[in-house]
Amino acid sequence: MPEKESKNSDNSTVANAPTNYKICEIIEAEIKTVNNLKIKEVSGKGKKEDVKIDIIVNYCKGCEICVAFCPEGVLAMNKEIAEVVDISKCTKCNICEYLCPDFSISIE
Ligand code: SF4
Ligand code: SF4
Repeated sequence: MPEKESKNSDNSTVANAPTNYKICEIIEAEIKTVNNLKIKEVSGKGKKEDVKIDIIVNYCKGCEICVAFCPEGVLAMNKEIAEVVDISKCTKCNICEYLCPDFSISIE
């Protein structure tokens, strides 16, 4: 439910967004090319400590296993490639790295 309403210039009402929700930060991945491999690298403060998540774009086949099994909702699919959407929730449990069948994702 909107918390307040305000008026447009034509006197119609418009609902204000609730003030108690957190706007997700847009996470910019640094794109690196190493040995002809394109790597999306995201670094930041995880739930417990600093974390770096690398996704090798060339290897990712878009199976979504890492997204489905990450217990914290850190990952999502962007078209056919996995990507980091909220690194602040990452606990460095390494489940994504263990389960990726293509050695595409790594946690440091
Ligand atoms: S598990 Fe590996 S191959 Fe599958 S979407 Fe995640 S990074 Fe890509
Ligand atoms: S290390 Fe664990 S919490 Fe972090 S992205 Fe991988 S599965 Fe999710």
